[in-house]
Amino acid sequence: MKLNTQNLSQLPERVQRPLYDRKQVQQGIVHIGVGGFHRAHQAIYTEMLLNRGKAGEWSICGVGLRSEDRAMQEALASQDYLYTLYELGDSDNPQIQVVGAIGDFLLAEDGPEALIRKLADPQTRIVSLTITEGGYCTDDSSGQFNADLPQIRHDLANPQQPKTVFGFLTEALARRRTAGIKPFTVMSCDNLPHNGQVARNALLSFAKLRDLGLHDWIAGNVSFPNAMVDRITPMTSDAHRSQLLEETGIEDAWPVVAEPFLQWVVEDRFCNGRPSWEEVGVQFTDDVTPYEEMKIRLLNGSHMAMAYLGALLGHRYAHEAMQDAQLSEFVRTYMDRDVTPLLAEVPGIDLEHYKDTLIERFSNTAICDQISRLCSDGSSKLPKFVLPTLLGQIESGAEMRRTTLILAAWCRYLRGVDERGESYPIVDPRAASLQEAACLKARLVENFLGLEDVFGHRIPASAPFVAIFRLQLERLQALGVRATLELTMAEEV
Ligand code: NAD
Repeated sequence: MKLNTQNLSQLPERVQRPLYDRKQVQQGIVHIGVGGFHRAHQAIYTEMLLNRGKAGEWSICGVGLRSEDRAMQEALASQDYLYTLYELGDSDNPQIQVVGAIGDFLLAEDGPEALIRKLADPQTRIVSLTITEGGYCTDDSSGQFNADLPQIRHDLANPQQPKTVFGFLTEALARRRTAGIKPFTVMSCDNLPHNGQVARNALLSFAKLRDLGLHDWIAGNVSFPNAMVDRITPMTSDAHRSQLLEETGIEDAWPVVAEPFLQWVVEDRFCNGRPSWEEVGVQFTDDVTPYEEMKIRLLNGSHMAMAYLGALLGHRYAHEAMQDAQLSEFVRTYMDRDVTPLLAEVPGIDLEHYKDTLIERFSNTAICDQISRLCSDGSSKLPKFVLPTLLGQIESGAEMRRTTLILAAWCRYLRGVDERGESYPIVDPRAASLQEAACLKARLVENFLGLEDVFGHRIPASAPFVAIFRLQLERLQALGVRATLELTMAEEV
């Protein structure tokens, strides 16, 4: 049965569905970057409120800025913007829910003016973002916004015809300011340390280049809460679609699959109101820093620890990597001995229990989280997920073999062929230059670590780090992943 409004009443009883009249709700949130994660996280928290008869002003209008988003827009439009959340846990009865929180979907390439108007509309009070870690055009080591990128230059030269998130937000805020309309909150839900601050810095840097008065107005009036977001959401596969159809009879062009766990800790700084998300489990706080450091370094960092070594060994899913005793021991040791000693106390969290839960979540066999997904965009992820731990180790003189092995494995992975001789694509906007550096015959280590936009200055300046990196890379090349893991772990005893 095709998923749409008309067929909602015929869904099997075990499938939850919207309990509210979708025609009666207003769109107070515009969300840019409607991928899997938004649909499994923020939209679900909002749906929970809508189902309780709350948040009637806060349904969501999705937005896609890239041509790749057309497929999602068309899939959702063909089913009245309904979609299924298909929870996959290691339980017999995972939750299946049809979600109605997204009510519309605009594509920038169908006409920037319509999107600017939507953003400038007084009804829009929050603009949320999941535009990936690399979407903020910010140099990780310096924190500087990169205004030289061609798309940023384009938006500065054509303010009415923007292409990037910064061009759209700035033009909409300019119109709100002129019309005397309160601004919206800009809420990043991407996995980056201080995501609100990074979004603020990028938007203000862009606005400054356009109009100083506007820059000052944004700086004084727009809020950018930091948030820690968590729910493992793999890419939806055809196997997931067929499994859903078989189990429920629902034909959904693009369901979203996710683990049962979900968490959101966010700073309570919203300049134009917000839904009462605290009623459905969202934790509001004054300072999200300890939570985000814990989550990004332990969860996302450990994903990096399993991803490149796992890919080289030929594993395709996270649970396979966790079933590999050697690899799962490496991951847990990395959590315990490398990440944990550098974490601040996290209010209300027992770190040992948190790490146990992570191992359980990574081991979820039902969800089939793709190693290839974890490996993608390493040049944006590693500086946020792993390099802060490495820098802490360099600064404190701590032992850093395991952390360095993660980076050496990435370098080896970038050659595009695993240890069984199978090739795979490198998914990263910087793939060409990364692969070139990783495949050099001469002065490989110097050139690779010289990738300043990834490693910055301080890391390659550490002679002990460079020596260990060289050793780990040589071992991976000469002895392979298993022997390197064995040596690395044995040295720790
Ligand atoms: P996805 O590939 O399904 O969707 C990514 C979306 O971002 C797409 O709509 C894409 O068009 C958009 N996008 C990418 N680069 C952009 C840019 N420069 N400007 C504007 N839009 C851009 O990925 P996803 O699983 O939804 O994850 C998105 C982000 O959410 C991640 O990068 C991460 O920061 C965060 N997140 C994901 C998970 C997860 O498990 N998937 C968990 C926590 C946080």
